[in-house]
Amino acid sequence: MTAMPERTILSIAPKAPPEENGRVKLLLVDDDPDNLLALQAILEPLGQDLMLAQTGTDALRLCLDHDFAAILLDVRMPEMDGFETAEMIRARKKSLQTPILFVTAYRSDEQLFRGYNLGAVDFLFKPIVPEILQSKVNVFVDLRRTEQLLRRKAEELARAEQRYRAVLEAAPDAMVITNQAGTIELANSRADTLFGRSREALIGRDIHSVLPAWECPDEGLPRTSLQPTPEQRLIAYRDDGSPFPAEITRNSFHTPDGLLITTAIRDATDQAHAEARIQKTNLELERRVAERTAELRYSNEALRQFAWAASHDLQEPIRTVATYSQWLSQIMNGNLGARESKMLATIEQHASRLNQLLAALRQYIQVSDSGQHARTSVDCNAVVKAAAWNLEAMIQESGASIECGALPSISSLELPLVQLFQNLISNAIKYRSDDLPVIRISAQEGENCWIFSVQDNGIGIDPKYFDYIFGVFRRLHGSQKSGTGIGLAICRAAVERLGGRIWVESTPGNGSTFHVSLPV
Ligand code: ADP
Repeated sequence: MTAMPERTILSIAPKAPPEENGRVKLLLVDDDPDNLLALQAILEPLGQDLMLAQTGTDALRLCLDHDFAAILLDVRMPEMDGFETAEMIRARKKSLQTPILFVTAYRSDEQLFRGYNLGAVDFLFKPIVPEILQSKVNVFVDLRRTEQLLRRKAEELARAEQRYRAVLEAAPDAMVITNQAGTIELANSRADTLFGRSREALIGRDIHSVLPAWECPDEGLPRTSLQPTPEQRLIAYRDDGSPFPAEITRNSFHTPDGLLITTAIRDATDQAHAEARIQKTNLELERRVAERTAELRYSNEALRQFAWAASHDLQEPIRTVATYSQWLSQIMNGNLGARESKMLATIEQHASRLNQLLAALRQYIQVSDSGQHARTSVDCNAVVKAAAWNLEAMIQESGASIECGALPSISSLELPLVQLFQNLISNAIKYRSDDLPVIRISAQEGENCWIFSVQDNGIGIDPKYFDYIFGVFRRLHGSQKSGTGIGLAICRAAVERLGGRIWVESTPGNGSTFHVSLPV
């Protein structure tokens, strides 16, 4: 760069912006190209971007587009001297703070005074000593670098804070950030709405003024704990002093300035109302169920007493009817016509049938009541034996065989169990087919229960009657077989009293199996 045209703006700065290449810009202004070249040669070893101008106007133009770390300004220039140029540079806001070093051949107080007045940071006197120039300029290079670094850090910080605030704002709940003592340091706009108080008014206040029961989470949390505390229901206060229920979760994080706590707060008014409504409904339901249960218990007891009394009180008149009809037939011995004798026999038959029904009814009532008694360990093999012994005549007469597998001992009541097996075995014989009755009794373990099965090879039951037959006075084969229609109702009452269940499986013509499950 030996030949240089007059009045030129020359830049030897590479294209990349200084932030990227790490270099700063320096402006050298002198009307003498040789001087410019000399300055350039001295400063080039600093490795910075040098821009050259030969007039004050060119220097001003460059100041418009570039931000210089320092300007080296020759004092004596033809059109606009260094001082005038400096004045104009200072007049612009952008270059108000740019350090200016005046280069002059004359050491005069007046010049110094004027220069410093115009904001000069230093004077360099010709002839220039390269080392001094370099070290002076280096100070400004370092200053600019530090300034750039600080600016970048400040920008990064501002960006991080912006992100942080955006996250805080995007939170679905009101969020406040406090220090350990509970002083609010930050709050999002939802907090304004929730507490009816501006964010500025919240910041710096004690969180206890809006959430009196707020507590700092355990300080012993690990430094990186991201686990929020479990949800808590507290009473919060709006600006006007009105309370409302709030759900809060807290999260703490350590910062160089100490522990900070984020508290997410949600208005739980609607939820509290819904809970109160559910609670009220539940209480009302419980009250109604209790009322209804009491009513049912009362009417059940009344019914039971009525049935018991009726079955007892009816016994006597029936016995009288039977006795008197027997007496009448004895007194009239042989003097009654065939028609009258048949009528008396019908009266006796019906009286005895009524007696049977009443006895069965009493048995049913007794079984329904038996659950109140204390249970003992009952050997079911002995139970089946006792039932078969009670039915000995029937078994002999029918030629029935009973095959009984190993049965368990269970905690139960013996009497209802005997009644249960007795009814099931007698039905198996009564509702036999043309084959000799074969009855198989077995037990297998279920889930927390034993399942007993009484299988027969009798006439079977149509599936549509599987439930029906367990009701009181329900009979399917009433005309062909004697019975009261209460046997299976007694079985069901006994099983239910023992906490179990009874059901039947059958195919008409192929026998039936009655299953009974009883709790272990
Ligand atoms: P009862 O035997 O006195 O009629 P139950 O209550 O014991 O009354 O039985 C109700 C009805 O169920 C019987 O009338 C009968 O029709 C039917 N039943 C009961 N057990 C059997 C069985 N093992 N096989 C076929 N039918 C049965």
